[in-house]
Amino acid sequence: MQAVVLNEPRKISVEAVPEPELQAQTDVLLRVTSSAICGTDLHIYEGRLGDGSRIVIGHEPLGVVERVGDAVVNVRVGDRVTVPTHICCGFCPNCWHGYSGSCLTTNPGKWGAAYGYPGMGGYAGAQAERLRVPFGDANCVRLPGEPGDRWEHDFVLLADALPTAYHATELARVRPGDIVAIYGAGAVGLLTAMCAFMRGASKVFVVDAVPARLDKAGELGAQPIDMREGDPVERILEELARERRGVAWRGEEANLGVTVAIDAIGFQARDRRDYAVENPDAVIADLARLIAPNGRLAIIGVFLDQDPHATTESARRGEYLIPWGTLFKKGVNVGMGRDHDKRYDDILRDAIVRGTLKPGRIVSHRLPLIDAADAFAKFDARSDGYIKVVLDPIASR
Ligand SMILES: [Zn+2]
Ligand SMILES: [Zn+2]
Repeated sequence: MQAVVLNEPRKISVEAVPEPELQAQTDVLLRVTSSAICGTDLHIYEGRLGDGSRIVIGHEPLGVVERVGDAVVNVRVGDRVTVPTHICCGFCPNCWHGYSGSCLTTNPGKWGAAYGYPGMGGYAGAQAERLRVPFGDANCVRLPGEPGDRWEHDFVLLADALPTAYHATELARVRPGDIVAIYGAGAVGLLTAMCAFMRGASKVFVVDAVPARLDKAGELGAQPIDMREGDPVERILEELARERRGVAWRGEEANLGVTVAIDAIGFQARDRRDYAVENPDAVIADLARLIAPNGRLAIIGVFLDQDPHATTESARRGEYLIPWGTLFKKGVNVGMGRDHDKRYDDILRDAIVRGTLKPGRIVSHRLPLIDAADAFAKFDARSDGYIKVVLDPIASR
């Protein structure tokens, strides 16, 4: 079968690899109908997440079940399913408690496994014609409809991007009336805006520097803030102060700020004064200034415990400069970490089917799998309006 192989940093090829086989009675084999490229794939592509040489990449599949092992009970051949990025067993203590992203079984000796991801259990990736899914009953989320229908791009986002976004709004406990600021208008940032509105946020600012992504944020009803046009914190605070004028509790000016701040960028944040330069501390520094007293901060962008290519000595050791003093003084509640996709997938699937959520609106490109090398290069450059790319293995045949 054809699969997307990362040979070395920034060198992608689409080539024939062996067909996956059922290796255990609990396995499922999936025929992939859509497979999305994630911002995390770009970190792997750039060589920032450890040795990704000669791996089949990808962790965001949607497809149809082609074979099931003898011990699989809930999933049948022909079922349409999405498969959460984080591979879980369903029976370890972390899985019981809803922390499927920290499964103790699927990556022995560590916590958390994923497809096509260095250091996450060695599982083959999902940007391929077929995928082996371990513990099929625990990992397949059954879906209505047919391949290629109006939900194809909504459901493919259930694998990772949408539950990650929803996790951010859970960590920050977004509730009706909240004023939300999201740094990063990539797929996860945009979907976080969508989830925040679903939970009743009254205003959502989205900060980024890429015009196509800012336009998309505006389309979704958020207020785009172009970080290249001056300090985003000052501009948002000025706007909030203007809105408040004359109606606030006397002295409420001291409370100025967003009630919820979300970092959807992570360690590859850019320096506002020179956008070409990475500054991993920049986003949290901004959000600490921007958040109101007693606000809630969620960090869903990836940070690393070691990063040999980081721009600062401390970031190479996974140590970042965090304004704890400001956050403590403001009494900010901080939540962070990988999402536990399985915990949210049924809620989000039902919201899609009901029409409450239409996450597929953020998909900018659908391309044949054979065009993966070009798609990675353009997505990595954030050029040509590349926001979220879905690869189509069927169009490649
Ligand atoms: Zn992803
Ligand atoms: Zn588990």
